[in-house]
Amino acid sequence: MSETIFTKIINKEIPADILFEDDQVLAFKDINPQAPIHFLVIPKKPIATTNEIAPEDDAVVGYMHRVAAKLCADLGVAEQGFRTVMNCNPDGGQTVYHIHLHVLAGKPLGWPPYQERLKIE
Ligand code: AMP
Repeated sequence: MSETIFTKIINKEIPADILFEDDQVLAFKDINPQAPIHFLVIPKKPIATTNEIAPEDDAVVGYMHRVAAKLCADLGVAEQGFRTVMNCNPDGGQTVYHIHLHVLAGKPLGWPPYQERLKIE
């Protein structure tokens, strides 16, 4: 897959507000927050979309969720609640083709999350 802006963040070629990093994942604040708390958890391995998650990636995808929950606990919002979202391809709203878990918190989040409600004939 072609390199994305998230590879540049992993390689420290462009700056990001990093909340957590280890050998497997990186968590950083979203540059265009959609909630009082909005950060992204990404694997260091570049996986383009949810469709490309392979069996050998199961552990890191699970770990991304545990990192999200730990950071929400550290930020004091785990008990009140938060939302994790992974958009896939154009209809899912994906714009960066390196999988990322959006983590949103800090206010009651509406449901469904999209403005345009599905029209049921
Ligand atoms: P998606 O539309 O699900 O692919 O989400 C991509 C997210 O990446 C958006 O919420 C963007 O605001 C965010 N984003 C893009 N570039 C950066 C950046 N340089 N630093 C932090 N977040 C970014």
